[in-house]
Amino acid sequence: MFPPNRITFTVIAVVLCLFIRCSKETKTPVTKAAAATSATDKKTSSTSITKPVTTTKSTDTVATVPATNLSKGLCCKTENVIIIVMDGPRYSETWGDYTRQNIPGQFDIYHYGVLLSNFHNMGTTNTDSGHDAICTGNYENLENTGQALPQYPSIFQEFLKATGKPAEKAWVVASKDKLQILGDCQQAGWTGQYQPRTDCGISGIFSGYRADDTTFAHAKNVINTYHPNLMLINFKDPDTYGHSNLWSNYIKAIQTTDGYIKAIYDMIQADPVYKDKTTLIITNDHGRHVDNVADGFVSHGDGCDGCRHIEFLAVGPDFKKGIGLVTPYEQIDISQTVAKLLNFKMDYGKGKLMTDIFN
Ligand SMILES: [Zn+2]
Ligand SMILES: [Zn+2]
Repeated sequence: MFPPNRITFTVIAVVLCLFIRCSKETKTPVTKAAAATSATDKKTSSTSITKPVTTTKSTDTVATVPATNLSKGLCCKTENVIIIVMDGPRYSETWGDYTRQNIPGQFDIYHYGVLLSNFHNMGTTNTDSGHDAICTGNYENLENTGQALPQYPSIFQEFLKATGKPAEKAWVVASKDKLQILGDCQQAGWTGQYQPRTDCGISGIFSGYRADDTTFAHAKNVINTYHPNLMLINFKDPDTYGHSNLWSNYIKAIQTTDGYIKAIYDMIQADPVYKDKTTLIITNDHGRHVDNVADGFVSHGDGCDGCRHIEFLAVGPDFKKGIGLVTPYEQIDISQTVAKLLNFKMDYGKGKLMTDIFN
């Protein structure tokens, strides 16, 4: 009896072993498959989280911000908009530098505002065309010395026409004299009409550039004297020193302009007429060539990423706070967004409303 029992035990043990091993082997592919499925789920999940932020389709926007003040018709608390254009820094020296060493003032402001890391000039990357795109919502290849007016009315003309307010409620204050073109346009029925006040260059068009500290002083004076509802301020030095091929001066100019920006933000916050009713937008007209294109940071004007990629930081009562978004928007979208904030229409603007930045 003993040997057969032993044989039986052995057979049972072998069968059990095989069964367990088979079970393990059967389970292994399932586990792998499950792991693969899980990984796919994670990937899908991650993609679905990222996707609404990276696209601009209205459906995605709704998914991202399902009950905004904008969608509920509660916008907008903004009564004034000030746009500051830092002329021609590369993104790699502003927000693309993650130390923020050149823009500490804007980094402070960022905590109360919204930053776009995927914002571009998709037209001509020169000063007049860039400012034209910001102000009229159209990309035009303008002659770049101030000889040519934009074709279409700007936010300033549209605002003044819509509100009937006096000219001094809309201002263009610029270091570059050629930016006086932003005060008028070629469109029939608009030329010479509804023009904002301009304070550009030494003494207006074709008078030459003036120093940024003069523009800073003039901008403060205009704010205190007139409290404009709509204003654009241009600081030229990052562009000027870039063209001079003086890297350290170019960097210093970005830092100095950043200081002006922070000072203007602080001024707004300390002003009872402006506080909590004013939107500040900080952007660029264009960037500069990436290092491996032409003469690199010295010049600009083509379609390279360095020339196209620009900054957009905004702070105001209707915008998200302390957040960076990767939603792709572009330069011509600013005018449409300003029009929404101040409740007027851009009759000829091609831009779209930047819905994702709203509360
Ligand atoms: Zn420029
Ligand atoms: Zn370029």
